[in-house]
Amino acid sequence: MIELRHVSKTYHSDGGIVRALQDVSLVIERGEFVAIIGPSGSGKSTLMHIIGLLDRPDKGSLYISGDEMSVLNDNDIAAIRNIRIGFVFQQFYLIPRMTAVQNVLLPVVYSGRKCELSAVERVISRVGLERRMEHRPNQLSGGEQQRIAIARALINDPGIILADEPTGNLDSKNQAEILRMLRELNSLGKTVVLVTHDRDIANNADRVIEMKDGEIVKDSKVSNLSRSQSECVQPDKASSSVDVRRELNIGAYLYQAFSSIATHKMRSFLSVIGVLIGVASVISMMAITTGASESIKKSLASLGSNLLSVRPGHA
Ligand code: ADP
Repeated sequence: MIELRHVSKTYHSDGGIVRALQDVSLVIERGEFVAIIGPSGSGKSTLMHIIGLLDRPDKGSLYISGDEMSVLNDNDIAAIRNIRIGFVFQQFYLIPRMTAVQNVLLPVVYSGRKCELSAVERVISRVGLERRMEHRPNQLSGGEQQRIAIARALINDPGIILADEPTGNLDSKNQAEILRMLRELNSLGKTVVLVTHDRDIANNADRVIEMKDGEIVKDSKVSNLSRSQSECVQPDKASSSVDVRRELNIGAYLYQAFSSIATHKMRSFLSVIGVLIGVASVISMMAITTGASESIKKSLASLGSNLLSVRPGHA
């Protein structure tokens, strides 16, 4: 269950104070499919960011499954966000140089959980892209990229899916497909919160919350509760699982490093030149210093015993 109690959020900008949320109280039951709708600037994204623990309210409290979030520190908040909440955004936010599998696995790497490799394949198969696992985002269509983003949101088996305008960049066929997937996830027990400005899309949910000027102005609700199947499991439940985190940490990081070098050839070349010039300069300076020191020593040694020194003295 997600509960907001008297939540307010104010932004201070050059244009003055913006009251993005004003004393919003709201309960979203576990397993609901809720759409948040309203015109641009009505506070939908701010509300979603607070529910998704991406931002904190100025006033009021957020409870997730009965736990008050405001008393938690940033690390605990990050852990809850990673494990309990899956995000789907309009812009997909896939990492371009990573394959579909690597993108989907990122939340697992960050969470430190254990996950069977077959579960990754299963979650990608669930979004119908089992034949695109090794493709990079630029080799996928917009709809396919969003499906990979949904698979990424599901890999840690979160109870809550937050989708911010997930169909905003898609044609009508792909829109319908993404909405069908969100509906299916909801039927498996996920709480789905869909932010949209489009009433037709909002009507796919069971409950529509309408916002205006940072306030909820209308709320029509239909609940649909069910339980979910787990794709990934906690470490203590994963006796036969592969520790993908350990495998990925070295392999994926090396891969990322080499991909980054290959992707940014000019930057890498200039960096190498810079390092070489730096090293050559240090070596040259050391050689010059050593040479000068030797030269001074030789000069001193050449001063023999027949040297007559004349100093001014007293009369
Ligand atoms: P919506 O998602 O409905 O378009 P938002 O929640 O993004 O609305 O924004 C609500 C109001 O808060 C808007 O007036 C917006 O300009 C303002 N706002 C949102 N984020 C910021 C920010 N980081 N700084 C200043 N103002 C912001």
